[in-house]
Amino acid sequence: MTEVAYISHSDCGIHDTGWSHPEHVGRLRAIPRALREDFDLFQGLSHREGRHASAEELALAHDPGYVATVMAMAEAGGGRLDGDTVVSSGSWAAATAAAGCVLDGVDLAVSGEVTRSFAAVRPPGHHALRAAGMGFCLFGNIAVAAHYARARHRLDRVLIVDWDVHHGNGTQAMIQHEPAIHFVSMHQWPWYPGTGAASERGRGNVWNVPMAPALPPQRYVDAFLSAVDAATVGFTPDIVLISAGFDSLRGDPLGGFTLEMEHVDAMTRAMTERAESWCGGRVVSALEGGYAPELLGMACRIHMRALGGA
Ligand SMILES: [Zn+2]
Repeated sequence: MTEVAYISHSDCGIHDTGWSHPEHVGRLRAIPRALREDFDLFQGLSHREGRHASAEELALAHDPGYVATVMAMAEAGGGRLDGDTVVSSGSWAAATAAAGCVLDGVDLAVSGEVTRSFAAVRPPGHHALRAAGMGFCLFGNIAVAAHYARARHRLDRVLIVDWDVHHGNGTQAMIQHEPAIHFVSMHQWPWYPGTGAASERGRGNVWNVPMAPALPPQRYVDAFLSAVDAATVGFTPDIVLISAGFDSLRGDPLGGFTLEMEHVDAMTRAMTERAESWCGGRVVSALEGGYAPELLGMACRIHMRALGGA
């Protein structure tokens, strides 16, 4: 198995949304539980404690005033950024850890120390806008990482792929002006958050793949990989970032896609194989959605095993 970094941070557990909220801490706890049932994989992973992203790093993608607002709200004991998006007293530490774990994955990949990684983090990120939280997301972990890869590591081209069942509207909003970042999002349509039509192309750097629910699962895999291939014609990425949302699995309470574990395996392998040919296998994956904890844990296990090619 090729080395895979499993990056986590205990602070991701102190973002307290309450147990009645779908995005609760039990999601993260399901991941090590699933890993322990695969002892070879558990032993084979490079376990890493991530760092906190700084306010300056978050401002690579976000409005600095918004970043300060989230910090102040958490310091004041918490609040809400929208009807679904909770800030608790621990949320600043959690959200900066979530972004920081993904930045660590980028650092590891660029240095060549560990080219493939998975950041098991919360809160998720792909709905967060430049100056607003949205849809359980405080900061755009993947969008920040994409800008960080370019600004701090001088990478020329970044590919982001997003197979969460919801449109990665926040990622799109934060990269659509930047032709050196290509973004592919496959998502249920029409569905939350309502954006993600195929006609939304940014500056020609956005590929949206809106899909009906309840299709045969291979249809999603094929559509996703076709869009990845379209997005990389004449564009060889220097790093691949994955918004790994596992609410696209059959049985998730917040989506109607039908993917099974074998499709998580297939999409992951397809991306790591492409990354091998493009950029020495640099793949940094970050958890987004996934609201059936047992399915989520198993999917993360399958995903990490496939990242390692084992
Ligand atoms: Zn989602």
